[in-house]
Amino acid sequence: MTLQIPSSLTPSKVSSFKECAYAFRLAVIDRIPQPINSLTFKGTLAHRCLDRLYFDYEPKLRTIETARSIFDGIWEQALSNGELEYLEECEKGCSDLDFLYKDTMFLIEQDFVAENPQSVTAIGTELQLETRVGDMMLRGIIDRLDLNSDGSITVTDYKTGRVPGVLQEHDRLGGVHFYALLCERVLGIIPDSVQLIYLRDATTIISKPNQQTLKALLNKTGAIWKAVCTACERDDFRPKPSRLCNYCNFKNICPAHSPAETTGGS
Ligand code: SF4
Repeated sequence: MTLQIPSSLTPSKVSSFKECAYAFRLAVIDRIPQPINSLTFKGTLAHRCLDRLYFDYEPKLRTIETARSIFDGIWEQALSNGELEYLEECEKGCSDLDFLYKDTMFLIEQDFVAENPQSVTAIGTELQLETRVGDMMLRGIIDRLDLNSDGSITVTDYKTGRVPGVLQEHDRLGGVHFYALLCERVLGIIPDSVQLIYLRDATTIISKPNQQTLKALLNKTGAIWKAVCTACERDDFRPKPSRLCNYCNFKNICPAHSPAETTGGS
């Protein structure tokens, strides 16, 4: 059976396919709903708050007090919209609203440690870009696009997890370079730099894209797109067990973790 080919590739789809094709299939092609966990939820609210801080307020007004007041509004809205009800009840910390509020606010405040918001000239937040390359549609949402004093631009991506190890860091930078590729193709500008701001650790990792790195990324992305299309044609998405299985929402329906697999088929 031939499966429906996804309409586009995004940085998260690329890394999902690389990490485990089977999980990619369940999430992207079968669209099996996944529970929202507290980490994702905190990340969503922190992103919303920083998005407004940088887009709605001129630099001199970007203070921690402003951020707190924005976040209070976002929090109230999340409560009244019932967004918190979607969180998994059993997850540690989820039921503790006070902890959820404080930890999300902590992430937001950490941005003030990682950078000085008053010195940033943001020219876009939550910027949706897309471009077609042959039969492949590339899409991405850039957290923040900054204009530097020399006229160049910087792509900023907020991360709410811990600073990763070297190998994972390479993968994450690949994601931000994907945004640089979109800037090049849609805006006609190669960003001077791309930066990942790890809010929890208040750490920024910076990388400089150039024509060669973006060309290499485009080739790699093309190869992944081809692999996704072939897997769809053959209905062949294989599980790839790794330490990530411990965080996978599909573990209970994954053939790699079925009783037959774990007991050696006996
Ligand atoms: S449990 Fe592991 S192998 Fe199975 S789908 Fe999830 S990530 Fe892939």
